[in-house]
Amino acid sequence: MIPVLSLELMHQSIRAEVLSALEKVYDSNWFILGRELEQFEAEFAEYCDAKYAIGVGNGLDALYLILKAYGIGEGDEVIIPSNTFIATALAVSYVGAKPILVEPIEGTHNINSELIENNVTDRTKAIIAVHLYGQPADMDEINLIAKKHGLVVIEDAAQAQGAYYKQRKVGSLGNAAGFSFYPGKNIGALGDGGIVTTNDEHLANRIKELRNYGSSVKYTHTTKGTNTRLDEIQAAVLRVKLKYLNQWNEERNRIAQWYNSKLANQRIILPEVPEWASSVWHQYVVRVSDREQVQEELKNRGVQTLVHYPIPIHLQEAYKEYNYLKGSLKLTELLANEVLSLPMWPGLTEEQVEIVCQALNEVVSLNK
Ligand SMILES: *Cc1c(COP(=O)(O)O)cnc(C)c1O
Repeated sequence: MIPVLSLELMHQSIRAEVLSALEKVYDSNWFILGRELEQFEAEFAEYCDAKYAIGVGNGLDALYLILKAYGIGEGDEVIIPSNTFIATALAVSYVGAKPILVEPIEGTHNINSELIENNVTDRTKAIIAVHLYGQPADMDEINLIAKKHGLVVIEDAAQAQGAYYKQRKVGSLGNAAGFSFYPGKNIGALGDGGIVTTNDEHLANRIKELRNYGSSVKYTHTTKGTNTRLDEIQAAVLRVKLKYLNQWNEERNRIAQWYNSKLANQRIILPEVPEWASSVWHQYVVRVSDREQVQEELKNRGVQTLVHYPIPIHLQEAYKEYNYLKGSLKLTELLANEVLSLPMWPGLTEEQVEIVCQALNEVVSLNK
């Protein structure tokens, strides 16, 4: 079986280095808000060409804390893509605001900036741009609309650590960005983790307080914060992994190019990448019309795949309060029915990609 994701080879290759980093933290007997986190924050900020980075407990909290720090809440609206992981919407809901769903561009699956302005009202406070599957959204267009209407721009960069938009690094393209270090992301912790990047000093300080009970001086609380911090163990591991991120992203890019050249059937729609985007290929996602059947037959041929994501946010039970009907976001629903994520992980060989492509080419030509 060729797995859709395997961390094994990546983790084997840095095993000694990671274990020694873990040992160092263990022996230091200091586990929360220490030196490893400070160093990692500095290194990650530099990696993203951002001034500040603030480590938090996970990617959802990164987005949630940015919204909270900007004072967005009850009665406010936040524009997000309809085609994203549910966490983007949950962050908005957690602060008490309403997520406004905007349909994607068919080729890139990212938010269609031409549809954003129609959805701006006098309650709109922010736009969250998601860099889905590792590919940056069209940030210049989004920033232009935001400027015109006085909106905050937040990047959900959970799937795009290291991606470029017009030679500029993701994480420094809006007012602030939220990243996830869930183990399966391009750079993952050994558990949950996340980080906020920003050039806004005031925002950075506010998030530092919010992640730590609303406190910057021990036992002095200026605001009702929460507890969501990136711990020393995770920071130490992420410091090791950050050194390899570019190399791993290059490997993902090589794999994507193999897919591009070996998949040859009009019934397979390949991902589109605009010339200004440099994707880090968190997922390699194709479209096929008879997806369930194709997925099943690939499994029978030893190829594991996944679907990101089978049920769009507006049709989730969790969001039934907004009474969206089936058919109300047509393109999002079409993509949800057709997308298929192929195996993508550093260490995947050209031979394995060849097997996946042969199987997929064959399956779609049989399913006429
Ligand atoms: C993974 C992910 C998140 C949430 O990150 P967690 O660390 O799992 O909380 C948010 N947005 C997107 C687009 C993601 O893929």
